[in-house]
Amino acid sequence: MWIKRLQLTNFRNYPTAEIGLHPVLNVFVGDNAQGKTNLLEAMYILAVSKSYRTGRELELVRHSEAAAQVHGRVERSADVDLAVLIAREGPKKLLVNGKATTANHFVGRLSVVLFTPDSLQLIKGSPSDRRRLLDIQICQTDAVYRSNLLKYQRVVRQRNQVLKTAAGNRAALKQLPVWDAQLVDLACRIMRRRQEVVQRLSDFAAAIHSKLTGEKENLRIFYRPFFQGSSSSALSQSEYRAVILEQLQKERFLELQRGHTLVGPHRDDLGFTINGQDARVYASQGQQRTAVLAYKLAEMELMRSETEEYPVVLLDDVMSELDHARRRFLVEILNKRAQTIITTTHLGSFTPDILSDAAVFKIEAGAIAERGHGDVSAPR
Ligand code: ATP
Ligand code: MG
Repeated sequence: MWIKRLQLTNFRNYPTAEIGLHPVLNVFVGDNAQGKTNLLEAMYILAVSKSYRTGRELELVRHSEAAAQVHGRVERSADVDLAVLIAREGPKKLLVNGKATTANHFVGRLSVVLFTPDSLQLIKGSPSDRRRLLDIQICQTDAVYRSNLLKYQRVVRQRNQVLKTAAGNRAALKQLPVWDAQLVDLACRIMRRRQEVVQRLSDFAAAIHSKLTGEKENLRIFYRPFFQGSSSSALSQSEYRAVILEQLQKERFLELQRGHTLVGPHRDDLGFTINGQDARVYASQGQQRTAVLAYKLAEMELMRSETEEYPVVLLDDVMSELDHARRRFLVEILNKRAQTIITTTHLGSFTPDILSDAAVFKIEAGAIAERGHGDVSAPR
């Protein structure tokens, strides 16, 4: 799949912009603060329905304007028009082929893999960032997971309310088993799916990582369920159910004391090992980067195996961060012919052969101009 056209209106620092994209490689060059990340953010929103940079959507609306629009035409087995409208007044609107729809029906039309300098924090960063990344990846290709996750989040919120009032309140305490049952039911599905996905992700990542490191290093990614600090073996859905029930019993007192749900996949994590050693503890900067590259390529392969189409790969200013591994990384993507959108402050890190089949755009103060299609050579 690929984004064929993109139109922005009053989105971030863009008054209006309209571009036609290249099916394989698109390079956006611009100085700092010209709108490079804003542009990738717009594409990401078309896929995920919300930004990865902010939860306050009004920030997306250009200063002193009433509403922002992002509109994209996606070419895939069934072509689709996607639009997101964010107004200062009123709720956000999501449109598929001109018709308003829910987030659950909007997400999944366009899949993306995002790589930013922040992605390099994946291994040593917070569990919630790793969980979010995994969830966004699964949600893009699995509508059932998407709907289970939404329901689960709602149940946890409501269960937290009950826990807060339940101490010393019999009526509230009586409601708890109802919420427990819903929690267990959704939690075991989510956990089973995460476990399955991480196993496949790990297999893809291990193969890619081995290539990126000249077969010197062995990367493994582990699903770490909330009840188990270390890596675990795969469980079936009913085994997850049994463990969650057991954990609910065990943590009941503490949950009531804290007024907060302590049991469930909202506390899961991912673990990484390189040559059997915990990467969070031992991996060097360079090893983390290579592992994250492998992870991103694995995400791409996994999405392709789920949807038969490669996702669009969004790379924000990462070429300068990645020395020799970067070219192999990029070439890996380009060889698959996944549509790739790269931003950079200078074309110096791109060889002419990489740019030979690419569209190059210049971004300046919220205006995008195409610099060339095809054989644009990099200035020395
Ligand atoms: P860098 O190379 O430093 O990462 P960039 O080209 O990625 O720069 P962006 O993050 O895209 O820069 O931001 C470009 C500009 O957009 C910034 O100056 C920012 O202040 C501005 N901007 C962000 N949100 C809005 C908004 N809602 N209205 C107007 N301008 C905005
Ligand atoms: Mg930027």
